[in-house]
Amino acid sequence: MLKDAIVIGTGFGGITAAALLAKAGYNVLTLEAASELGGCAGKFDRDGYRFSAGATVGMGFEKGGMLKSLFEELGAPIPPMRKLDEIMNVYLPDRTITYFSDKEKWYKEVINKFDRDHDRILAFFEEVFKVAEVLQNFVEKRAIFPPSTALEFFNLFRSIDVKLLGLTPYLTQSVQDRLSKFDLTNNGPFMAFINGQLMDSVQTTATYSPSLLGYMALSIFHKGAFYVEGGLASITDALEENYRSSGGELRVRHKVVSIAKQGDVWTVVTKRGQVFKTRQVILNAPIHNVFSLLEPELHRSLPFKEHIESNKDAWGAFTLYIGADPSFMLPETRSIPFHQFISSYESPLSEGNQFLFSMSQAGDEKFATGGKRSITISTHTNVSKWWDRETYESRKEAYMEKIIETIDKRYSGFSSNIDMKMAGTPVTFKRYTQREKGKVGGYIPSSKFSLFNSYSPNSRIGGLWFCGDTVFPGAGTLGSSLSGWMVADAIKGKHPGKSM
Ligand SMILES: Cc1cc2nc3c(=O)[nH]c(=O)nc-3n(C[C@H](O)[C@H](O)[C@H](O)COP(=O)(O)OP(=O)(O)OC[C@H]3O[C@@H](n4cnc5c(N)ncnc54)[C@H](O)[C@@H]3O)c2cc1C
Repeated sequence: MLKDAIVIGTGFGGITAAALLAKAGYNVLTLEAASELGGCAGKFDRDGYRFSAGATVGMGFEKGGMLKSLFEELGAPIPPMRKLDEIMNVYLPDRTITYFSDKEKWYKEVINKFDRDHDRILAFFEEVFKVAEVLQNFVEKRAIFPPSTALEFFNLFRSIDVKLLGLTPYLTQSVQDRLSKFDLTNNGPFMAFINGQLMDSVQTTATYSPSLLGYMALSIFHKGAFYVEGGLASITDALEENYRSSGGELRVRHKVVSIAKQGDVWTVVTKRGQVFKTRQVILNAPIHNVFSLLEPELHRSLPFKEHIESNKDAWGAFTLYIGADPSFMLPETRSIPFHQFISSYESPLSEGNQFLFSMSQAGDEKFATGGKRSITISTHTNVSKWWDRETYESRKEAYMEKIIETIDKRYSGFSSNIDMKMAGTPVTFKRYTQREKGKVGGYIPSSKFSLFNSYSPNSRIGGLWFCGDTVFPGAGTLGSSLSGWMVADAIKGKHPGKSM
């Protein structure tokens, strides 16, 4: 039977598009290669624990937040979650900074923990919040960017207001340029803090981060960060339930190996040899994956070239999954789910020198029972290090040891409280999320102008769409979901930013 749409992948982007289209009455089939949903934000079970595979910090569920609006649009119940007041402890070599959501508490913390430049730091954050607010309003209108059709140009221009035009000077500046204006670039601990936050969101430090992307990222925790019970997989599970209840069909362990077009109809073939026909294909895999799936005759019609995209820089993730008794931490620290470690001011913020430690909370029995906790630790890593069989195991052991040693230095009883541990590498991510070379988290901005090089969700080949963290508006669960929403809007032929 000819489907209205086939969605390939159930990451945040794919499951969002699938749920919205099914809700609107489209006949949708979703094919997922893995046995679990959620991709980089998915989960897996091992030895009595549930582990978040990658993403852990929930965002977008505050009043007016993007994911909250999505759930409202779908009429789906929001999974149990807690808005965090103390979001994260950031351990710098000589101080601990508690990242408060509330602006006033945050400003107090800044004054307490950074010994100088207080007025300029606060003025910088005021600018961040002001600019991000304007941008947020624009992004939430869901105009496709960069535009390629008359309708997309029309929708984009409709989404631009005077306030947004006021941000034009920021388009040619990096976060570093803005920090220079506030004379903050010589404040080592403050710069380490900012760079740590940018690495986890924009995937690069202030020097290469376009100011607008960086400002959005630096403001987001103050809008709301959430501890989601059972992890972010609870969100994709809730979207899946909504999708199925709207009549959507989902097949897991169905890896798509080719996509071809005849006339207006697409043929999608799986590894098992099943053939499906559809009018619209939504690919929720990174842009650089498209070349191995799409029939070669159509490669020339894409607005980008294989040799450039395949080599585009993106980080890999080294992850450590640990089941542990939480007694190594003081009770007040245990109630903060996220902890960022930065070991040295001099070393690059990757390869275990910086990592995020996320711990399930007391009573969250979806993750662990008997008072135990499930911990996911992730650090950025260069993907090219992990494809040599000779050094793979020893490198994995060395990274594990280095990270555990760093945690032991802060919490002396950590290693003796470990119940079980296992590691994930770019090879693991390639295997379980299909991302070529294990590249995760979107592409690394290479300059302050990177925003202009964003990829559009519209492939420019009729009926083929992209969603996920390598297309506009970019990385993270929020950006991925928003791109899926943009694609659903476009397929429905509806003006973006309006309710159904
Ligand atoms: C270690 C780590 C930590 C992170 N932390 C956070 C965080 O705390 N908060 C946050 O918001 N973001 C975080 N992120 C980023 C976030 O997880 C991702 O940006 C987002 O989840 C990507 O969603 P996506 O839509 O691009 O899909 P993906 O997660 O890439 O999922 C794509 C899905 O499509 C499937 N698929 C691909 N190809 C095929 C095929 N050919 N056939 C069938 N199925 C296919 C895959 O199996 C996968 O399930 C983190 C990422 C990582 C790696």
